[in-house]
Amino acid sequence: MSAPGPFNVSSYLRRAAQRHPQQRALCENERCIATFAELEARVQELADYLRVRLGLCPGDRVALFAENRARYIEWMLALWRAGAIVVPVNARLHVREAAYILADSQARLCLTESHRTGALAAAVRDAGLTPDALAVGDIDVDPEVWPALGGTADKAAAADDVAWLFYTSGTTGKPKGVQITHENLRQMVLNYLADIEPVAPGQCLLHFAPLSHGSGLYLLAHLAGGSNNVVVRGLDLGFGQIARLAAQHGAASLFVAPTMIQRLLRSPEPVPTPGQLRTVIFGGGPMHVAPLKDAAAALGNRLVQIYGQGESPMTITCMRRSELQDAIARDDHARLASVGSAFVGVEVGVRTADGIRLSPGEAGEIVVRGATVMAGYWNQPDATRQALRDGWLHTGDIGVLGGAGDLTLLDRSKDMIISGGMNIYSREIEDVLVAHPGVREAAVIGLDDAQWGEIVVACVATVDGKAVDACELDRHCLDHLARFKRPKRYHFFDELPKNHYGKVLKRELKARLCADAPAAPA
Ligand code: AMP
Repeated sequence: MSAPGPFNVSSYLRRAAQRHPQQRALCENERCIATFAELEARVQELADYLRVRLGLCPGDRVALFAENRARYIEWMLALWRAGAIVVPVNARLHVREAAYILADSQARLCLTESHRTGALAAAVRDAGLTPDALAVGDIDVDPEVWPALGGTADKAAAADDVAWLFYTSGTTGKPKGVQITHENLRQMVLNYLADIEPVAPGQCLLHFAPLSHGSGLYLLAHLAGGSNNVVVRGLDLGFGQIARLAAQHGAASLFVAPTMIQRLLRSPEPVPTPGQLRTVIFGGGPMHVAPLKDAAAALGNRLVQIYGQGESPMTITCMRRSELQDAIARDDHARLASVGSAFVGVEVGVRTADGIRLSPGEAGEIVVRGATVMAGYWNQPDATRQALRDGWLHTGDIGVLGGAGDLTLLDRSKDMIISGGMNIYSREIEDVLVAHPGVREAAVIGLDDAQWGEIVVACVATVDGKAVDACELDRHCLDHLARFKRPKRYHFFDELPKNHYGKVLKRELKARLCADAPAAPA
């Protein structure tokens, strides 16, 4: 790999420091940590130290395994400035899961919190890595007191110009490292500014969600616009907190998972004014129509939905605020159940498994083409060839395009149910189930069946854990769905099992239920 490419995302910081040196750049809760001029000086100092004193080389992988804190952002920017590849590791992962990512990415350094270093060092040893190969540093202290860097510079495997090596959430198998380049991120920023919102000094982005995922990448659009990145640490998401933080830092935008919106709506405090809360961007998992309507009733035109995946970060389709408002005003259920239309910088299509283009209304695999699409999986040429075919990213999601270009997600291809020769998409049935007033969450899976091939099985968590009769849910499904799609079994859970990004683990539900006896209607 050559030296860092011609464009490096840390240049957004340099530019903001020239244009708005005295504006707030980085805060933690109420506290201002740095103006743009201060942050630029700090990041340059750290980057120089990493390269000159520690011998970090362009293309070296450095993992960040920590909860949200302002330092996380300082390190991301310094690592990018030094030409290193940031490997974000969700702080809620088990140390063994983190050790898998460290070993797979051949990271030279992992920055983590002091309370984890012992357990991590042991897990890393068990994963076959020695301290010579990987150094573990305390993210909260300056690098002068870190151990010497592990390993030697190894640039062989990286595609050119990689900035972010993001491990997929692994809902269907071992996580794979997705190589996202500086150029991919630049395009992601442009798409944000074009389709989600313009950004200016005096505004802020509140990082309630983990920096190791989408919220961390949205940092860049706000850096580019000269707005303040506010890292939220140890505070619960709620309208009251948003209003308090906005009073300090200006009108706030935030990115949340759909499940976090429901938490937000349960806030006892009043909904913040538009001057306090500009935009709530949500995505990363299904948002069903009933809770979406509740969210729109509370937040009006401040909601934006995005559909993306690690392989085209935060950027496949977008339901812009005006589109969502329009769909609400017309009570257009089909539109509300969609994830909007392609971001301005990408093309979206739907294809058969053999790569044949499908027409609007036909269901198939969603494909994406554009400058946000990954350079490939890390050290996985077969998986890369499988995902990047004919110039298109094959997302593994099944969907259908409407005549106006709006895309509706039906399922992950691996989760689609084939029962009696019919394709059944879990999303459609889940949408119906969560519209029942007694249902809080629902996940629909297929289980092997001698007669039908697979049968539809519903896994349900009820509102406040109150019992809901399976026969009643069956009647509700029959009122809304074709007969062959209705679940043949119901299982009730206090909570559905989820991964650390809040996505329901259908694989785990299947494993748990395989052996179970039928629980409801014949
Ligand atoms: P990840 O790569 O971990 O961000 O997961 C990406 C996957 O999450 C996508 O391939 C979709 O299956 C799902 N996803 C992302 N955004 C949405 C959305 N707005 N609605 C439904 N599912 C989504």
